[in-house]
Amino acid sequence: MEERYNATTLEGKWQKIWEEEKTFKVGETSDRPKYYLLEMFPYPSGRIHMGHVRNYSIGDVVARFKRMQGFNVLHPMGWDAFGMPAENAAIQHGTHPAKWTYENIANMRSQLKKMGLSYDWDRELATCDVDYYKWEQLVFLKMYEKGLAYKKSSSVNWCPQCQTVLANEQVEEGCCWRCDSEVVPKELEQWFFKTTAYAQELLDCMEELKGWPEPVLTMQRNWIGRSTGCEIDFPLDGSLKKIRVFTTRQDTLFGATFMSLAPEHPMALDITTAERRQDVEDFIARIKKQDKIKRTSEDMEKEGVFTGAYCINPVSKKRMPVFLANFVLMDYGTGAVMAVPTHDQRDFEFAQKYDLPKIVVIQPQGEALAAETMTEAWTGPGLMANSGPFDGLDNESAKEKIADYLQQEGIGKKTINYRLRDWGVSRQRYWGTPIPIIYCDVCGVVPVPEQDLPVVLPTDVEFTGEGGSPLTKSQDFMSVTCPQCGEVARRECDTFDTFVESSWYFARYTCPDFPSGPVDRMAAEYWLPVDQYIGGIEHAVMHLLYARFFTKVLRDLGMMKVDEPFTNLLTQGMVCMETRSCPEHGWLYPEEVVEGKCSRCQAAAVTGRNEKMSKSKKNVVDPDNLISRYGADTARLFTLFAAPPEKDLEWNDQGVEGCYRFLGRVWRIVYENHALLGSTSMAPEREGGARNLRRVTHRTIKKVTEDIDGRFHFNTAIAAVMELVNALYGFEEKDKYPGAVREAIEAVLRLLSPFVPHITEELWSLIGHRDRLVEASWPKLDAEALVEDEKLIVVQVNGKVRGKITVAAGADEEAIKVAAIEEENVARFIEGKTIRKIVVVPGRLVSVVVA
Ligand SMILES: [Zn+2]
Ligand SMILES: [Zn+2]
Ligand SMILES: [Zn+2]
Repeated sequence: MEERYNATTLEGKWQKIWEEEKTFKVGETSDRPKYYLLEMFPYPSGRIHMGHVRNYSIGDVVARFKRMQGFNVLHPMGWDAFGMPAENAAIQHGTHPAKWTYENIANMRSQLKKMGLSYDWDRELATCDVDYYKWEQLVFLKMYEKGLAYKKSSSVNWCPQCQTVLANEQVEEGCCWRCDSEVVPKELEQWFFKTTAYAQELLDCMEELKGWPEPVLTMQRNWIGRSTGCEIDFPLDGSLKKIRVFTTRQDTLFGATFMSLAPEHPMALDITTAERRQDVEDFIARIKKQDKIKRTSEDMEKEGVFTGAYCINPVSKKRMPVFLANFVLMDYGTGAVMAVPTHDQRDFEFAQKYDLPKIVVIQPQGEALAAETMTEAWTGPGLMANSGPFDGLDNESAKEKIADYLQQEGIGKKTINYRLRDWGVSRQRYWGTPIPIIYCDVCGVVPVPEQDLPVVLPTDVEFTGEGGSPLTKSQDFMSVTCPQCGEVARRECDTFDTFVESSWYFARYTCPDFPSGPVDRMAAEYWLPVDQYIGGIEHAVMHLLYARFFTKVLRDLGMMKVDEPFTNLLTQGMVCMETRSCPEHGWLYPEEVVEGKCSRCQAAAVTGRNEKMSKSKKNVVDPDNLISRYGADTARLFTLFAAPPEKDLEWNDQGVEGCYRFLGRVWRIVYENHALLGSTSMAPEREGGARNLRRVTHRTIKKVTEDIDGRFHFNTAIAAVMELVNALYGFEEKDKYPGAVREAIEAVLRLLSPFVPHITEELWSLIGHRDRLVEASWPKLDAEALVEDEKLIVVQVNGKVRGKITVAAGADEEAIKVAAIEEENVARFIEGKTIRKIVVVPGRLVSVVVA
């Protein structure tokens, strides 16, 4: 055995062995219980970054731990391979997107393999493989048949930079989520998936997602945005027409004094009087050019135009002038808003500007608002006023009563509304899944017949970066014979939003080679749902919601059975690092700072905040450098030890050094005791000093098991093993009790193996094991070793048994008293009371007297 720990050689050796022996290959014919562990798959951008290292290290610990616990663990990896960067690379460097993508995949795959991750590489898939996306095309055809995919013209969010449509979820504060350009509205024919058909089920099923972080569930709930309200008809004065509004504030109906319509509202011009026509037309033309997101933002100036028309408030019977207003959109509700200036801030500002009447209909507790003196709307709760028969009720119960009243009177009806929109999936890009549709002048929209699938992306395209999809320029692709009438027709040239591919990849991993459909029902039934999913919080809405939607669609198409794809979800934090900059040279890479100075100009480097690692700010560590310097085990250990998975991790070089030194200590404890360790069948001694060491060993086994299992407290688990290693160094009777020493060292190796699989595997073989550590079982807790020297003591409060504590056999009376009153149940019984007396009957009971 070598005296020194040499990570590089031994890591390469074990990676090769695991690969050759197909250690992590799994099938569906195991008698072990299944466990499906999945990390969100990466986009093949070219190189892995520290965020990947962290994400996959976390997943690998769980996968290896479950494996050692006796589960048949599915742990796959693949590539979310369609998308814009590939196309941009093609435009900039003339490389074909496919070439760029597959080269990146090859590079990143070899990087991941250097990390020693326990993937079943035989299940690897890339979403740009025709064998993958052809099934997506099939699912689309089935959805089209069922009306779950449809086409409509709509105003879309358009990113001029990316030259494509963005889903609402992809617009962040008015800007493109990917390139940060300002998003503009554009009218386009688009394909949609009917996510709204599942709005209620998506909401209901969240009750079952006990293993999801609450913030993610909250974000999804808000995104679906269910509200109970009323549809109310306001008759137009002097006409039979009605304006329908949707409101969740029917309690304020008596206070509605004017009506605001979206400038896009179909009735807008109809109802406009002749003398107001010019003004109204000008207003509509001007507002339509404005960005919708901006129009509705709080700080936007509220403006409108009077149509000359009036409608009647159906309960107060007052005449209400009808305005068009910039902040009302057609997309939500009915595109008409009953304006209640006293109880809605936007309506208040609008009423101030155009001098419109205000009536207070909700009086806050202990106040008397007067419409004339209000400086802002009151949006809180209160008692009903100026509301006829509803006066004096609290406004929450009035909501229900007014809704019932409107329904009875035929003025309106109770409704449920969702903020969730249908998912626009058309993208004007090349590098995506072609939408299998044909347009024929005779037959109209014709789906590609199933037997003609796949519609393969053509390769004869040019990437100029100038307007529109490159697909339109491929004559071979575009021109097609109509499958219905045989005339010349053309293909749909849009491709799917890449979020479609990531909505079902977890199901395809269960049967990546299945030749007769998207999902092999048998395999899916065996593996799904994913038991543990791990990824970034940034996917809390889009990806996770779409994947849940798709699961329900595939279920309803009879392709699989589960209702929900992911039983447990862990959202890991970011990897952060201090930024450094030079007044002269801007952001500096860590290696450009030498002894606190810019390596180019020697100016003192300015240390900035700890922020998410990003190339643009150069606060990055290249995983390759880290791994070639310290080895994958150190890189893994550091990311797992430095912070709990859900928290942000702050990079620090000393922490990496510390992890490396710890592994050196593990190596040396084996090296120093190599001769002593004897055979693998040596039993631990159970007497004298051996008992002390065994107690630490088993206490550690207990702690590490509890910390990993479902809790992901990897940092404290690792800290516990560090203590066990310290105990081994400090154990002075090694020669006398080699069995207990061997047991402790084997425990260290087993407990550490999910974290640092290479060094532990090497040491395992060096102490004489012929089998692989990766095939070994998780260490078993010997409860006797723990309790041997502990006593179970009963705690009474005022003569009644209220709890039990275990204390060390030699514990002093003071320690026993403290343990007794801190016991959870006991603490409840003495809370807020005065302790009069505590009596300890050694080895038997503690009696607490309180008053
Ligand atoms: Zn963009
Ligand atoms: Zn035709
Ligand atoms: Zn400089």
